Amino acid sequence: HPTAPGAMMNSHFASVGEDASKEAYEHGIQVIDEDKNFNGDLYTYLNVEKIIPSGFNYHLISVFGSQSTGKSTLLNYLFGTQFGVMSEAERRQTTKGIWMSKNKREGDSRGMADNILVMDVEGTDGRERGEDQDFERKSALFALATSEVLIVNIWEHQVGLYQGANMGLLKTVFEVNLQLFIKDSKTIPKSLLFFVIRDHLGTTPLRNLQNTLLADLSKLWSSISKPSGLDNSRIEDYFDFAFVALPHKILQPEKFEEAVEKLGTRFREGYNDPKKAGLMDETEMPVFLPQYHRRIPADGFSVYAEGIWDQIVHNKDLDLPTQQELLAQFRCDEISREVLVAFDEKITPLEDKQAEDARVGRATIIPDLGPAMNAARSQILKDFETSASRYHKGVYTRKKAELESKIDTRLKTLFQKQLTAAHKSGVETFSNAVSADVKAGQKKGATYDFAQIVDTEKKRALAKFEIEAKSILVEGAQWSSYAQELKLYQKDLDEVSARLRKDEMRRLATRVERWVRSRLDESIGLEFNKIGTGRGGSGAPEHGERPPAEKDLWDRIWVIFTETVEGAEKRFTDRAQSFDASPEEVEVGLWRLRRKSWGVLRAKIEEELMEGNILLKLRENFEDKFRYDEQGVPRIWRPTDDIEGLYTKARESTVKIIPLLARFKLSRTSAPPPLDAWIGNAPESVLPADEEDLAPIGGVDEEEGKSLEEEMTLLSDSKATDLLVRFKKTADGVFVEAKRSAIGGMTQ
Ligand code: GDP
Ligand code: MG
Repeated sequence: HPTAPGAMMNSHFASVGEDASKEAYEHGIQVIDEDKNFNGDLYTYLNVEKIIPSGFNYHLISVFGSQSTGKSTLLNYLFGTQFGVMSEAERRQTTKGIWMSKNKREGDSRGMADNILVMDVEGTDGRERGEDQDFERKSALFALATSEVLIVNIWEHQVGLYQGANMGLLKTVFEVNLQLFIKDSKTIPKSLLFFVIRDHLGTTPLRNLQNTLLADLSKLWSSISKPSGLDNSRIEDYFDFAFVALPHKILQPEKFEEAVEKLGTRFREGYNDPKKAGLMDETEMPVFLPQYHRRIPADGFSVYAEGIWDQIVHNKDLDLPTQQELLAQFRCDEISREVLVAFDEKITPLEDKQAEDARVGRATIIPDLGPAMNAARSQILKDFETSASRYHKGVYTRKKAELESKIDTRLKTLFQKQLTAAHKSGVETFSNAVSADVKAGQKKGATYDFAQIVDTEKKRALAKFEIEAKSILVEGAQWSSYAQELKLYQKDLDEVSARLRKDEMRRLATRVERWVRSRLDESIGLEFNKIGTGRGGSGAPEHGERPPAEKDLWDRIWVIFTETVEGAEKRFTDRAQSFDASPEEVEVGLWRLRRKSWGVLRAKIEEELMEGNILLKLRENFEDKFRYDEQGVPRIWRPTDDIEGLYTKARESTVKIIPLLARFKLSRTSAPPPLDAWIGNAPESVLPADEEDLAPIGGVDEEEGKSLEEEMTLLSDSKATDLLVRFKKTADGVFVEAKRSAIGGMTQ
């Protein structure tokens, strides 16, 4: 039942009898109840206690500490308050929420400051109810944020124990205090942390206990997360520390009361300036320094406090999960670990296998991976559900999702790696299968259908991959799909097919080239043989005189050559098209074929024109003219014959052949054949690899610096001259022999 500020104002003017109110507030006021509601009557209470008109002349102190550590008892002794105290007999918690009471011992001999307001905060041992922990944090923060002095009440034996000394709680409270109330404030508010150590036995000096606590506090401070800008802050920037030890109340009641009386004298005003404070025993130092005061005028305090409480209640950082949720978190984590053991037993060896394969660069497909993954996954989820589903629903659901994502990350990796292996080995198998099929086809000699082979093997490879992929699908897992991978696989198969087709094209080109070579070998050889006969044919002409063979030799060679290559081109095109070669690939193939064929032809011609061969042909040609008559009948030389005349005529006729052979030119045009036009320009789609093994051709590859004229020059001038000289010598020999035989014939 929080009250609006207006209502609070009204209560200020409420005509409630003062005595009646005094009675109503005998035990002080419950500022915050156990349901975390802020009491709208705080203003009234402060009014009843005459605090409202005091301006800044009031003080606020709180107490912090575990339940039943004698906090309320101490406050009651110190300030004459009547906070509920656990009765020795009943052992039940009495203080609920946060209570406030004015110091009842004001004005007595101890010289306490005016208007001390004391807040008694419900303590819990934090183990019974989650809700209490939540309240404990929030009330502790409220105390810290509003109070000048925070009494931290602990047993001596709790010193040095993180949990016992409430360090965990302090950590959270410090953290949120920085975040909520200090981060943006212009001045740094300071508070006094006043450690009151209860049941001090006296064996450990206070100094030692104090050092332990200070060390714990600075460790705690370094571990809290600080807002940016305050990263380097020290705990001393926000807190002063004081320490006091009290004897055991039950065992040493007099000493206890004495010590408390002495402690009471310290609740007086002091000075910020230590010089002004003068030399003073540390155990007598006043606790109310001006710098601790929050500077909220007394009449604004209730609104201020309510605002602080409002911020605290709505701060998420302070919300604690309920005990039930904590338990569920703990158990679900534990169960996760338990059920993962069986999962690991099945899955880890598979992961290790893949890791090993990856290490040695092997692509093996793990048999029965799919069933193994499916079994492991459904088993672990079922096991988890069986044990964990009885805990807090929300936590269970979240933890189940966590577990699922954990195992799915691993299963997905297995799945993916298996697909990668299937991909790799599939591509390899495909490539090998196509090559094997081609080889088998070649062996049979029949023209095999390359396109058909590729198509069949590709279908087989795809089907195999799909079977493999389907077999490792994991039921219920969202990621379990291979559509993308299948697409990639298909793409790779296509790429490999293209490469294999290119290989096949090369094989085809080689076969066609070989065919061209054998055809040209025969037909061109035949043409050159004809030179050996002086009258265009071998042996004796039967039907009159034929034109000399050498006359249109090159015209015939060019025709034979172009016709042969034309036939080869047709073979090449037909075959290439049968296995789906692209028009560009065919174009490049034909262009290469023409160039290579020219090379074949030129090599053949060069072979024919090798010195030994050509000299033989010239000699045959000459002898044919010299030693046979027009009818092809061998001459029997007689001394009367005009041997010199016949010799000269035959020799001159044969000599004419040499320059004719020296250059490849057509008789119709007296120019080289149009080799450049016939080969044509390199196709657009030609690749550097396609040109790698091609010899340059003069006049076609202009950048080679060799003209068509030069390409067509088969015998150099000096070579021709040399041939002429050698031929003449041979002819002379034949002539001398003829002469001799004429004379010899006569003497016979
Ligand atoms: P609170 O929960 O911290 O406020 O503790 P109480 O003031 O209600 O006291 C809890 C119990 O501790 C009561 O039975 C007190 O009599 C007892 N008690 C109070 N002060 C002391 C003390 O100094 N030493 C010991 N041993 N017991 C104390
Ligand atoms: Mg109490």
